[in-house]
Amino acid sequence: MSDRPVVTRIAPSPTGMMHIGTARTALFNWLYARHTGGKFLLRIEDTDRERSTEAAVQVIFDGLKWLGLEADEAPVFQFARADRHREAVQQLLARGAAYRDYMTPEELEAEREVARAEGRVVRSPWRDASPNDAPDRPFVVRLKAPLEGETLVEDQVKGTVRFQNQNLDDLVLLRTDGTPTYNLAVVVDDHDMGVTHVIRGDDHLNNAARQTLIYQGLGWDVPVWAHLPLIHGPDGAKLSKRHGAQAVSEFDAMGYLPEAMRNYLAKLGWGHGDDEIFSDEQAISWFDIKDVVSAPARLDWDKLNHLNNHYIRQAEPARLGGLLEPVLATRGLTVGDPDREVLERTIPLVREGAKTLLDLADAVVFVLKRRRLELPEKVQGLLTDETRGRLSRLRESLAGASDWTVPTLEPLIRSFAEAEGVGIGKFGPALRGVLSGGSPAPDLAGTLVSLGKDESLGRLDDALSPAA
Ligand code: GLU
Repeated sequence: MSDRPVVTRIAPSPTGMMHIGTARTALFNWLYARHTGGKFLLRIEDTDRERSTEAAVQVIFDGLKWLGLEADEAPVFQFARADRHREAVQQLLARGAAYRDYMTPEELEAEREVARAEGRVVRSPWRDASPNDAPDRPFVVRLKAPLEGETLVEDQVKGTVRFQNQNLDDLVLLRTDGTPTYNLAVVVDDHDMGVTHVIRGDDHLNNAARQTLIYQGLGWDVPVWAHLPLIHGPDGAKLSKRHGAQAVSEFDAMGYLPEAMRNYLAKLGWGHGDDEIFSDEQAISWFDIKDVVSAPARLDWDKLNHLNNHYIRQAEPARLGGLLEPVLATRGLTVGDPDREVLERTIPLVREGAKTLLDLADAVVFVLKRRRLELPEKVQGLLTDETRGRLSRLRESLAGASDWTVPTLEPLIRSFAEAEGVGIGKFGPALRGVLSGGSPAPDLAGTLVSLGKDESLGRLDDALSPAA
């Protein structure tokens, strides 16, 4: 197994949402595949026909796409492979590693009772029966698992996990209606997809023992296992609704950037020394599945916000502008062509404190307002006759500015205040209010530059002209 190129996979069941734990599992599989120069695959475990709607499958595609963790090949759909799963069962039967179990539901119930009373697992009398005794009635096919000894799961995260075979019943592989069961399908699919490393949540650790027995029954190589600790809420309890968010789409809607999510999720259970912020390239070169820790990881909103702020400050303003458009649309603000340029020049001036794209949207609203702005009372109250006079004199200075940049406008405003013999505090708040309509805005020069010359002077004119 070790000399085969690495193939990892993510195998989500479409449930209608993509859990943040699934995203982290996808990331670790992706990182490991990239680190080893291998492949990262996607399988949709869509055997629950009621839940596996087209929309629910699309949620997974969208989630992976948003996260930037797209698979290297077209997805495999589990349900469509049922014939192949049945074929593997025939193989197991032929190898003597499975048997047909003709227990009726009543017999099974009775055996369950006895097994419970005797403190053992269910055992079918058909395990050792001769095929010649087969009655003509419905049957399930069960794995003929060893009765004694241990099954070892050599896990890259958990270490060696031992399962006593006497505690594992003979797993049903095919139901009476001929449908394959979950663990069988997973093994056959992983084998056929060439998966070398199964990296998934540790809620599947028990399945790893079951699956190991199926691999052995088929005479196939057992993959390398790595079971990741679950993600808990900040309080240490299992992640749930009350912790704020669980679905990838919620993090998107809350204004987190995918690169911040990748950096953040990578730190949930893995790390590289004390490094908090690292690029995909760094994570890929450092990541090893062996370094994943087995203690549950806790979601930490402050850390996520800190990272997101970092990536917002790094991102191309044009890209952020594009990402803001749908956010602004939810606030009734449409971004037209000319606004794009305005946004691009505003974003660098306002993003310093933005933890999310929602914060950033708050910070750019002022620039998208249309004239004539409605001035809140607080701003109107600042527009005394004296201040109006001062602002109209300032307007004239601004109109004559040699260029419209922060380095020009900052000293211009300062000298204007000096010439007027007042501090900037005497007119600054009114100027800001008039320019921003009372919305958050950067410092004065930044606000003027964001708006541009015409818009700035226009907004001043609107406020200074007698009320219409
Ligand atoms: N379909 C399983 C889940 O969504 C994952 C199975 C696996 O990774 O083996 O939890």
